[in-house]
Amino acid sequence: MIIDCHVHLNNYDTARPSTLRERVENLFDAMDASGVDHAVVLSSYTANAERPHIEELVAEVGGHPRLSLVEGLRWRYDEQRTDLFQMEERIRDKVVKGIKLYPGYDLYAINDPSLESVFRIAAKYDVPVMIHTGDTYSAHAKVRYAHPLLVDDVAVDYPDVRFVACHLGNPWFQDCAEVLYKNDNVYADISGLTLGDFEYEFERYIMQRVRDMIVYMGEPGRQLMYGTDWPLAGMASYIRFLHQIEVSDEDREHIAWETAAKLFAIDGDTLTEAHAMRLARSGTRPGTIPVG
Ligand SMILES: [Zn+2]
Repeated sequence: MIIDCHVHLNNYDTARPSTLRERVENLFDAMDASGVDHAVVLSSYTANAERPHIEELVAEVGGHPRLSLVEGLRWRYDEQRTDLFQMEERIRDKVVKGIKLYPGYDLYAINDPSLESVFRIAAKYDVPVMIHTGDTYSAHAKVRYAHPLLVDDVAVDYPDVRFVACHLGNPWFQDCAEVLYKNDNVYADISGLTLGDFEYEFERYIMQRVRDMIVYMGEPGRQLMYGTDWPLAGMASYIRFLHQIEVSDEDREHIAWETAAKLFAIDGDTLTEAHAMRLARSGTRPGTIPVG
């Protein structure tokens, strides 16, 4: 069983327009090719032709056994800021399983008092708050806001909220390890550590950083989660990376899916169905008639 806790349905190739439905098909194809059963889809800090609004995602894939949705907060960058009442309804109704903050791109600090109402919603419904930490995919972003040390601020101020530091704070791995070690309510995903596929030298570099983090923080299985940042990172290359992390088989299972299943409240029946759907699709080859 594998859960990829960090994928997007944005179109990053503006020269090649694609519909949301096409991107969903591409996602399932990529998941099938790498044996991924379930994926957590994160909406963006803005909504436009390339980046679907959370309502579009709900309409297209809401309730699909192989996908969970996390709502990207649109706070400063987007003129159409997130309506917190509507977000709360989506979370209450369990169509949205978490909140994603993009402080580097959206230009705010996560310890800004304006976010208190956001964290209160997360606490009330016990959904995780994912935070982009570290390097950004845009030259217009301000990376200082994305420093993982700021996660410590909110983890301390909101002890009943569970936070996820996405991308291990890359390149501030050691700072991220300290925040994880210190705070039981902080998790991290290993997504977005490369663009495309890992190249040999860079993969070795990243693996060493992950090894150092695990030595420092301990309990990798409790806090780390598998994720890719697809389509920015390739799934096949990431599966290989997962298998190379030096942890016990038990911890690897936790990283691969168990910790994410708990954090995003993805129940056993849903995962069983997701797994069966993957196997059914994988058995379908072009030219044959799909069953069911
Ligand atoms: Zn991402």
